Amino acid sequence: MIIKNVSLDIVCGITSTLPDTELPEVAFAGKSNVGKSSLINALMNRKALARTSASPGKTQTINFYNINDAMYLVDLPGYGYAKVSQSVKEQWGKLIERYLQKSKQLKAVFLLIDIRHDPSANDKMMYDWIVHNGYQPIIIATKVDKLKRSQVQKHVKALKQGLELLAGTQVIPFSAETKQGREEIWKIMDELLFE
Ligand code: GDP
Repeated sequence: MIIKNVSLDIVCGITSTLPDTELPEVAFAGKSNVGKSSLINALMNRKALARTSASPGKTQTINFYNINDAMYLVDLPGYGYAKVSQSVKEQWGKLIERYLQKSKQLKAVFLLIDIRHDPSANDKMMYDWIVHNGYQPIIIATKVDKLKRSQVQKHVKALKQGLELLAGTQVIPFSAETKQGREEIWKIMDELLFE
C-alpha cells in the first residue's frame, strides 16, 4: 500500500467501550520492548507516531491507527512488563480479551517475538490465546539485524518449537533498522484486507 495519510484515530483504555469500526483491522501483539512501536512506525513510514518505549509497559491502551481511511492498524498494549501490579495485569488481560472476542473487523493478528531469545511463557500464552480466539497469528521475528545471517534459520526454528506453532504458520524475520521484512508484511496485509 502507498501510505498517504495516517492518524491515531482511537485510543481505547481499560474503562472505554471498544469502538464499533467500519474499516478492516489488523492487530499487533507482543511483549513490551519487543520492537512493536518501531515496527508499526516502519510499516506506516513514520518516525515516531507510535511511541517507542521510554517506560515500557506503561501504556495500557489499544491504539487504532487509520491508514488512508482504508484500514486500521491496531496496536495492542505490550505484555510481560514485570513492574506493573497484578490488578493492572488483570485489567490488561480483560482489555485484550474483549478486543479479540468482540472485534467484528479484525482480519489478522501478528505476534511479535524477539528473534534472539526463546519465547517466554507469556509469549506462549499469548500465542495460545490468539489461537483460542479463532485466529492463526502470523509471527514476526523482530530485531533480526542483531543476528548474524547464518544464525537466523536456527533461531526461527527455535521460535517455532518454543511456541509450538501450528503447521503452516508464517514466521517473518523483521528489522526496523534495515526494514527487512517490511514489504512481506505489507504484502500479507494487502492480500488479507483487499483481495
Ligand atoms: P515496544 O516496547 O515493543 O514498542 O518496543 P520499541 O519499538 O520501543 O523498541 C524497544 C527497543 O528496541 C528500542 O530501544 C528500539 O530502538 C529497539 N529496537 C526495536 N526494533 C529494533 C530492530 O529491528 N533492531 C534493533 N537493533 N533494535 C530495535
